[in-house]
Amino acid sequence: MNDGERFDEEGSKRVRQEETLRLGLPFMREMVRQRNEERAPYRISLAERARSLESEEVLLELKEQAKMMADKLNKMIGNEPTREQLVEARDLVRPELLALARGARAFSVHYRRPEPFRVGAAMLVLRKVADGENPWAVMFDANTKVDKSGGASKDGKAWCAEQYLMDRIDESVAQVVTIAVAGEARTDDVSVLRGVQQITLTPCAMCRDRLVYDERLAGEVPIIPKQTEVVTQDVNNLGLQKLQQVGDLHRFHGESVEVD
Ligand SMILES: [Zn+2]
Repeated sequence: MNDGERFDEEGSKRVRQEETLRLGLPFMREMVRQRNEERAPYRISLAERARSLESEEVLLELKEQAKMMADKLNKMIGNEPTREQLVEARDLVRPELLALARGARAFSVHYRRPEPFRVGAAMLVLRKVADGENPWAVMFDANTKVDKSGGASKDGKAWCAEQYLMDRIDESVAQVVTIAVAGEARTDDVSVLRGVQQITLTPCAMCRDRLVYDERLAGEVPIIPKQTEVVTQDVNNLGLQKLQQVGDLHRFHGESVEVD
């Protein structure tokens, strides 16, 4: 092959890649939108799960922990954090956020026995509030895999702890600061094909996509910026933790990322 041919081949390959990228973003956004819609019947609210699992007291305790964290940040960092203070806040509560994520596993609904596959997640956010109010808030949730009647089922559809948290990001949330996930280290279905090993359970393909392609969350002024930290921990070995950013998750799993 002479240099001219090589240039042509590489040039056309590059053009093809660029075309894929241009088509890619609307396609991925539409895919995420459809997934959110399709799985709507397979979700159970945290309050509903707490009732059916008779864990309402546990829920109250965890809510109290979450509130204490938010109050601490308001006291120590204040209600108008700079970029540096956001980093400080994130580092300050990381261990507590992971503990809350572990506690949230009590609200998983999963068919596996004797030990269900439980994943908990907790998220630190900044809310839009009136002057003088505390903008910091902490949410938590857990995974489910249920059929349409709400019962744990192998044939049900999974909705991840992170997905429930993303569902709960409403108009009042200005920005997600950090997301903590605690579960058994496991390679997801997509990554296992690419031979990616895991020391923790990092967000699955469905979550990775929604984190960056959900138009409501990752639009022009994203509520979940690409730099948002995702800290994951193996519940069977708490020393195993991984710090990543939302914008790095796809590449870590060997996937490309569609951009504007
Ligand atoms: Zn997921």
